[in-house]
Formats: sequence, C-alpha cells, structure tokens
Amino acid sequence: MFTNTLKNILLPAAALAVTTTIAQAQTVKEPVVDNPEWAQPYQPYRIAGNLYYVGTYDLCAYLITTPQGHILINTGLAASDTLIKAGVEKLGFAFKDIKVLLTTQAHYDHLGAMASVKKQTGARMMVDYKDAAVLKDGGSSDYAFGGDGSSFAPVQPDRILHDKDTISLGGTTLAMLHHPGHTKGSCSYLLNVKDQHKTWRVLIANMPTIVTEKDFHHLDAYPEIAADYAYTLKSMKALRFDLWVSSHASQFDMHTKHKPGDAYNPQAFSGRKDYDERLRKLQAEYDKKVAGKKQ
Ligand SMILES: [Zn+2]
Repeated sequence: MFTNTLKNILLPAAALAVTTTIAQAQTVKEPVVDNPEWAQPYQPYRIAGNLYYVGTYDLCAYLITTPQGHILINTGLAASDTLIKAGVEKLGFAFKDIKVLLTTQAHYDHLGAMASVKKQTGARMMVDYKDAAVLKDGGSSDYAFGGDGSSFAPVQPDRILHDKDTISLGGTTLAMLHHPGHTKGSCSYLLNVKDQHKTWRVLIANMPTIVTEKDFHHLDAYPEIAADYAYTLKSMKALRFDLWVSSHASQFDMHTKHKPGDAYNPQAFSGRKDYDERLRKLQAEYDKKVAGKKQ
C-alpha cells in the first residue's frame, strides 16, 4: 500500500465499495481504491539481465527467469493474475514455470493475486517471518489495516525467511533484507543479474512509507514500530547497488526511466540520487512522526 491511499482506505463505508469473493472458506473484501493506475495494464519489459517487469502501471511485479524455473515478486490486486500471466507469456516464458513466489510487503495491493498464482503454478511461497501471520490470514491481523477480515486471499507460506536469507534458483541468488515498518515483515531484495556486457547489482526496494495515522508510541498492535522504521531507514541508506526499482512504479519514477517500447537499457535504472532523496524525505516524515508524540 502507498501512503496516499490511506485516506481512501479509512473513509467511511459508503465510500469504500468492496468486492467479495470466497477463498479458502474466508470472505475476502478487497478495498476498492480510487487509483486506476493500480489496475491499468502495462507492457512487460526486460529491466536488466534475467530481471523483467510484469506489473501494472503502478503496482510492480518482477519476474526473474532461470533455466530451472522462475521467481515472481509481488502480484498487484486480485484481478491482476491474468495480466501477469499474459505479461510472462508475452515475454516468451511459461507461467507454469514460476517456481518461487515472494513479496515485498503483505498488503493487498501487492498480494491480491498471490493465492491464485500459487494455485495455478504450484510455486512455493516464501515470506519474511514477521509477515507470515498476515499472509496466512489475508491481512486481517495487519497492524494498520487489519481488524475487518481479509483484504486479500490468504496464502500458506512454504518457507519462512529471515534477514539476509538467500533464495537460489537456476544460478540466480537473491538475498532478502528485512526492512520492517511499512508492514512488520516488509522487505527488499538484492541480487546480481548479468547480460553479455556486465553484471549488475540490483536492489528491489520496499520504501519505508508510513501507513498508520496513529501515534507510534501508543500502537499496541506494533509496539516496536518506531525502532523498526529507524532500523530500516538506517540500513537502506547504507545499501550499495548499481540499479534500483521498488514496490510502486511511482516510487522510483519508472515512467520517466522507461516508456513502453523503449529498447533494453539497464542504465536507465542506475544511480542512487533519487533513491537517497526519497529516503531523506521518508526520514523527515519519520522524524516528524516521532517528534509529534511528545507534544
Ligand atoms: Zn503497503
């Protein structure tokens, strides 16, 4: 979820239309947000080496292809499973060859179609240990948006990940970086990809935006939230990489770096000036949030 959607989520019921589906004997109510870019189809493309973009206009989904099958990170909303499948196939890969499923955060806008993708592919779901419970209950125990049932179809994890655990498939290895705050188990990934010219260190970043309007120091559902955000901000600033992308296209200005039909150009995602600037702003928001409680 992205910060500017929070108000939409918290609006009264009248403004919050819901779609209801039955999944795993639970009612899933996916909030309908006023952001068409989340569901808008987007042309899939190759980012760098064996890393591809298969998400929507704003909700990023990443495909990492290997000779032994593929890794999918994030799905977008519930209805995006068909878009992702079409994107994977348009790139010339088989959807059923997806073997590993990952997410950057257990919110419905990144996990909405995960249960469906898992069912269709039989892939193994791996999740940060602190997001496992929310994954299993479809978001109903989420500290910020929980309490009103599932907002995405629950997914049973097959492997629990801890900070710096690695995921290897067909010669590609990702390291999971525990970056809590946005959700208790939000995380980023670091991996090396290569093409015929170069090896690139890629960061798939979950930017630590603040989603709760509650005081950090009176949040019984997440007492360690302030310390977690502080830790995440500090560790993200220290990361070293060649290219970076994120959970939302808007967070790394994807649409200025890449236009549909552009030729393969990993360099478009290089540099960290904008990354550092984003983190500086998020640090300021965090500092303001923490200072506010003292008044
Ligand atoms: Zn989120």
